[in-house]
This record gives sequence, structure tokens and C-alpha cells, in this order.
Amino acid sequence: MSKLRSYIRTFTLWELWQGLGVTFVNFFKPPVTLNYPEEKAPQSPRFRGLHALRRYPNGEERCIACKLCEAVCPALAITIESDVGEDGTRRTTRYDIDLFKCIYCGFCEEACPVDAIVETRIHEYHMEAPGENIMTKDKLLAIGDKYDAMISADKAADAKYR
Ligand code: SF4
Ligand code: SF4
Repeated sequence: MSKLRSYIRTFTLWELWQGLGVTFVNFFKPPVTLNYPEEKAPQSPRFRGLHALRRYPNGEERCIACKLCEAVCPALAITIESDVGEDGTRRTTRYDIDLFKCIYCGFCEEACPVDAIVETRIHEYHMEAPGENIMTKDKLLAIGDKYDAMISADKAADAKYR
């Protein structure tokens, strides 16, 4: 009996019709895919992308070179050198993040006592030349300046979850 059923299924192309049935049912459902990059998936304000260093509204750097972020980084991606400035405050003379080492865990952001180092929602970036994986202090501050409004809004939204 099972042999007969097998023959019937073979000659009527039963599996093919079953597969076409699945195609037909899904043909009228809304698509689950996006036409990236024109269409983008929603992002959480907690998304951990490219790093930035922030300033206070008066333009002063937030970072006080405490090196907590460097100490907590599990990937040893952060390198900091510091000195005391003319005004007596401690500042970084070098702040590098190696994006090839970074695992985007967010520990640096969590450890920072002054909200200086943050991870933005920027995820569309690339490197073309050797060395571009190193995010220097100037590059990080430039990102912080450019995307300050987005970073502040994300911080405010994130605070609601805490
Ligand atoms: S996100 Fe994690 S791995 Fe990347 S620099 Fe910060 S602490 Fe290090
Ligand atoms: S970014 Fe924050 S944790 Fe890192 S050295 Fe500066 S103040 Fe300290």
C-alpha cells in the first residue's frame, strides 16, 4: 500500500504542488525583507556602534583621563596617554580605539563617570587604508560634535529603561 502511495505521489508530482502551495500562500503576505540601504530596520537607542567622545555645552572635553575605560576594556582596544594641562586639569594627550580589536561590548561607556566615551548608533562605516581602524582622539571628538544631538536624544531615551 505504501509502495502504491509512493508511486501515486511520484507521478502526480505531489511534493512539487506542496512546495508551490507554500509559495502561493506566502505570495500575498507582506514581505519580511528590507531593501537596504534605502529601507532601514528600526534601531534601539542602546545600539552599540561607532564610538564618540563628547564635550560639555561650553565646548570643554568631558574626558578627565581617569583611564577607567582603558582598564575595563576586555579587548584591550583602548590606549590612553595623559598629561596635566595649563589649567591644572588632567587631559588625554592620546586616546585611541582600535576598531579591529573592539567587540562593541559597551563596557567603556558603562565605566565612564562623565559620559565622555559613548557608542553611537552609527554602523555604516568602513576602512579603505591601513591604519584607518584606529579611531584617534580628534576623530572621536569630531564624531561627538557632529552627532551630539543624536547622542543626547539616545541618552535621554535610554534613561527611561534604567
Ligand atoms: S566597546 Fe568594549 S571592546 Fe570596544 S572599546 Fe569599549 S570596552 Fe573595549
Ligand atoms: S573616556 Fe571616561 S572613563 Fe575613559 S578616560 Fe575619559 S573620563 Fe575616564
